[in-house]
Amino acid sequence: MEPLHIVFASAECAPVAKAGGLGDFVQGLARELIRQGHRVEVVLPRYDCLRLESLVGLEQVPLELRLPYFATTLPCDLYQGRVDGIPCWFIDPRSPQDFFRRGVIHGEPDDPERFTCYAAAVLEFLHRTGRHPDVIHCHDWHTGLVPVLLNEVYQALGLGRTRVCYTLHNLCYQGRVGEGVLRQVGLDARRLMTPERLEDPADPRLVNLLKGGIVYSNSITTVSPGYAREIMATAQGLGLQATLGARADRFAGILNGIDYAVWDPLTDPRIPQPFGRESLAAKARSKQVLRQRLGLAQDPKPLLAVISRLEAQKGVELIRHAILHVLARGGQAVLLGSAQDPRLDRYFRILQRETAASPDCHLELGYDEDLAHLIYAAADLLVVPSLYEPCGLTQMIAMRYGVVPVVRRVGGLADTVFDAHHADRPFAERNGFVFDEPTPEALADALDRALGLWFEHPAYFRQLRLNGMAADHSWAGPARHYAAIYEAIRHPGGEGG
Ligand code: ADP
Repeated sequence: MEPLHIVFASAECAPVAKAGGLGDFVQGLARELIRQGHRVEVVLPRYDCLRLESLVGLEQVPLELRLPYFATTLPCDLYQGRVDGIPCWFIDPRSPQDFFRRGVIHGEPDDPERFTCYAAAVLEFLHRTGRHPDVIHCHDWHTGLVPVLLNEVYQALGLGRTRVCYTLHNLCYQGRVGEGVLRQVGLDARRLMTPERLEDPADPRLVNLLKGGIVYSNSITTVSPGYAREIMATAQGLGLQATLGARADRFAGILNGIDYAVWDPLTDPRIPQPFGRESLAAKARSKQVLRQRLGLAQDPKPLLAVISRLEAQKGVELIRHAILHVLARGGQAVLLGSAQDPRLDRYFRILQRETAASPDCHLELGYDEDLAHLIYAAADLLVVPSLYEPCGLTQMIAMRYGVVPVVRRVGGLADTVFDAHHADRPFAERNGFVFDEPTPEALADALDRALGLWFEHPAYFRQLRLNGMAADHSWAGPARHYAAIYEAIRHPGGEGG
């Protein structure tokens, strides 16, 4: 394939600007596309909270952009640097509201105005620097206006050959807001506020920025085939089912990769002893070190892990139930979780107190990357009982470290975990335990089957670990898939899916 020129427009790129999985996605895919020979650049806001230590060669570019802003324009400075070998551009609008000097990436009340300003800056940057990328790859609601502005304004200004691929990472966040954001960047609200274009499906007074991205892009993707089906055909589409359904021919679910430079038990510097498929026994050393560190008994018991943000999506009651159930069945349980919601933080602090006396349980409330590595290396089982899960990385990381996942059959979990007993797959592909209903009974059944194999049939359990470790969840395959989509939409008149 001829090398392509791709510009990523995203609110995040790890490690320089990361709030969650979106940042990892952009870093992982961009780096792999570069490795496969493509030209990739990332455009980000110049947040005041950029992690500057992960930026190489940051310098201001002697060019001032002028962004449309209601009846006037905003001057905007431009910086460039490299993040993990990826060329990045940082836009810094001199706005009276200091849009990107808030100490956070997102979560501000005026996020729609902030990212509308950013969307306009992406196009103005391309226009003023004479760039004509084959594809702009946009992400989530923050960039929903990029394809709209391209279509309505910038195609006529010379960007006529550039196409847009738009990736949905989580439909819960749609950017539903008053139509002022359209006027902010000089778009014609009367023309765009129709059911076929940007009008919110639930409230005709609101613009839906995510819908704008879906309607105006040449290709739409999401982060797993399972989630793609769910958001097109079930209530999980959160009002956008029909918008997606009408574009089914250009909509695809592509499973995310994980970063094998970070997540590899053979080379991971954060675990006490490396191990792999040929040296699985060395995993025991990590279990011993973890138990020592957390004050758990060094007994021959199966160790269940939870590594998760603690929020409703993740099935918090089921997480609690899993921990208590495994303890009751003679296992051990470790949780590493961070709760933003004070009520959920309290919920898990109560559980922490309830289990404090047990030598078989430890709950660590907070965010700790080093400890996460050690837990993956040490654990036997990982439970992910999510209510919905667009892709999910923890189950893929866990399998890489010889951990057997117990998951609910939703989204990307259903695409990556295949039940030891009930999968319609050859045995070599079975790697975990899957349950359907979000109930304690269904979860307990799956956990009991897992614990039963651990206690009674260790050779069988070991084979499940090996099966999970053999799967390829690197970015190589997903990046080739994205490149094929870019290639398909690049040709004039072509649409991809
Ligand atoms: P989400 O993006 O919805 O949080 P994913 O499964 O896609 O869920 O990704 C979660 C990532 O965050 C994984 O890399 C996981 O190891 C990490 N993680 C989650 N919670 C914690 C925590 N408390 N401490 C350290 N790492 C965490």
